[in-house]
Amino acid sequence: MKLIFLGAPGAGKGTHAKAVSEKLDIPTISTGNIIREAIKQETMAGLKARAFVEKGRLVPDGIVIEMLKERLSANDCENGYILDGFPRNTAQAEALDSMGVVIDRVLDLEVEDHVIEERLTGRRVCESCGASYHVVYNPSLKGDHCAECGGRLITRPDDAPEVVKDRLRVYHEQTEPLKGYYKALGKLFVAVGADEVSETTRRVFEALEAKAP
Ligand SMILES: [Zn+2]
Repeated sequence: MKLIFLGAPGAGKGTHAKAVSEKLDIPTISTGNIIREAIKQETMAGLKARAFVEKGRLVPDGIVIEMLKERLSANDCENGYILDGFPRNTAQAEALDSMGVVIDRVLDLEVEDHVIEERLTGRRVCESCGASYHVVYNPSLKGDHCAECGGRLITRPDDAPEVVKDRLRVYHEQTEPLKGYYKALGKLFVAVGADEVSETTRRVFEALEAKAP
C-alpha cells in the first residue's frame, strides 16, 4: 500500500507511521531523512541540496523530488511505503502525480491546535542524550535534569510557543488544501487523534482498512 500521512507538526504522525510501517512491513520515507542521507552520500542532488541547507534555506521542490524519485525506486519500496512530510502543498502533490506515483490512501491525522500547542510547548529534551520528556505527561524524575544521564533539559527552539503557533499557521495555510485535493480523488481517510496513543493507533488502522468512498 502506498500511503501519505498528513497531520500538523506534533499531531503524532511519526509514532503512527511507525506502527503502520511495522505492521505492513513497508518503509516510512521522510523527506528530512532523504535530504540528510543524500547530503551525507554526496549524490548529485545531495550536493545541490547542501548549498541550501548550509544557508538555512528550504531545499527547493525540484531537488527534493529528484531525491524522492531515486528513493522510491529502491527495492524496499516494492510493496509500498509511507510518505511522511511530503507532499507539503498542492504543487508538490501535482509533482508527485506527474512523476507517475499513484498513492492508494492519504491518512489524515486530525488533532486540535490547542492539544498540539500543549504537547509541543511542554516538551523538554535532554541536551546530552536527547531523551524526551513532557512537563505534565512525562516529567523527569530529576526535575529539570535528565533521569537517564543527568543532562540539562531544554525546550527546543522549534517548541517555543510563538514558533509552534507559526508552524501550525503554515500547516493550515499550505498543507490543509491537500485534504481537498485528495478528497476529490476519493483517497482521503481521516483518523481523529485520541488522548491515548493506543486508541489513536486503532483509529489509524481502522481508517486504513475502511471501505473506499
Ligand atoms: Zn539525558
